[in-house]
Amino acid sequence: MKILVINSGSSSLKYQLFDMLNGKVQARGVLERIGEPGGVPDHTAALTSVVNRLRHGEDGGASAVDISDLAAVGHRVVHGGERFVQATVIDDSVEAAIDALTPLAPLHNPPNLAGIRGARHAFPGIPHVAVFDTAFHQTMPSRAFLYGLPYEYYEQHGVRRYGFHGTSHAYVARAAADWLDRDSNRFNAITCHLGNGCSMAAVRHGKSVDTSMGLTPLEGLMMGTRSGDIDPALCFFLPNAVGIPMADMENMLNKQSGLLGVSGVSNDFRALREAANDGNPRARLAMDMFAYRIRKYLGAYLAVLDGCDALVFTGGIGEHQADIRAAICGGLSHLGIILDADRNADADGQAMCVSHPKSPVAVVVMPTNEELEIAQQTLAVVNRQQG
Ligand code: ADP
Repeated sequence: MKILVINSGSSSLKYQLFDMLNGKVQARGVLERIGEPGGVPDHTAALTSVVNRLRHGEDGGASAVDISDLAAVGHRVVHGGERFVQATVIDDSVEAAIDALTPLAPLHNPPNLAGIRGARHAFPGIPHVAVFDTAFHQTMPSRAFLYGLPYEYYEQHGVRRYGFHGTSHAYVARAAADWLDRDSNRFNAITCHLGNGCSMAAVRHGKSVDTSMGLTPLEGLMMGTRSGDIDPALCFFLPNAVGIPMADMENMLNKQSGLLGVSGVSNDFRALREAANDGNPRARLAMDMFAYRIRKYLGAYLAVLDGCDALVFTGGIGEHQADIRAAICGGLSHLGIILDADRNADADGQAMCVSHPKSPVAVVVMPTNEELEIAQQTLAVVNRQQG
């Protein structure tokens, strides 16, 4: 039995075909330049290409695979608002609801929906399941998800913290519990997803109780090009006092800030490290700020949870940058976090416990696998529906 996972963006569409008997990837690929010169005209055409590639092994050099036992298609959807608290079988009303959430995710939900429509056309007669980036965080209590704003903005416009990367936080929290041979439903963890986008979550008994991203992915940690937390007064100070046009603020905070903005070098951690090693002080400063912000959230989430079993690192930076893990965890034995320097230095992209055996909080490096998580949630929903 197979599950196809689709991650549909505005100009590219990624797919992975899983054999669910062993969790192995049977085929994977990406279609780029959708709607651009040299590419396919739209998402429906992109999905037709996916079918052809799978059936006949066209283009990317991949060989044909048998998709006669394709059981379902799982779709990554960024924003599920408050309506979607778990993976959901897609029908016309679910499509309409994803569309209605567009104001909360104007850059993401429309291309996600275009992928869903194309795939329902290309793969008719099997269930399609939406797996939402926000769903895992819907267990947050209101004291954690509300902003200190007039309450009617929440009631009338859904202004609140939603959080993102939920599929990844859910996956690594459970995988870390499994790795440590613990029951994931009784496991407390602080999960750090550190990639281009970065977020942390406080997970109590397997459920998200707080997370650093907010209404949008801009809030929280400092990221590759996003500022993360700033004084909200900057949103009127900068246009008034510095003369940045209001219309440019969103782009500046999302695309020109963070590691890139501070260093002036790059949003990519590998390039930053090279520059820092060559003596660039702003590259070093950007890395210090990045780690310090995570350390602050770590302190906050240790206070939020009543006892923490594990601190989990994932994403390109979390999995590969040992120095950053060391900077975050150093000198925290009074909070129960004792890193094993050698193990930490050795961990590079593989699942590994990097804390000292005597550390009350286990520190775990856990490669994320959002596609596999989407496939597993899709299968679970389909089994539930049929069972
Ligand atoms: P995305 O968030 O787009 O999925 P990643 O999770 O790969 O991307 O995270 C990208 C960040 O991780 C970059 O800053 C990059 O420098 C860093 N990174 C990715 N792979 C490695 C690696 N093998 N060694 C060191 N840093 C890495």
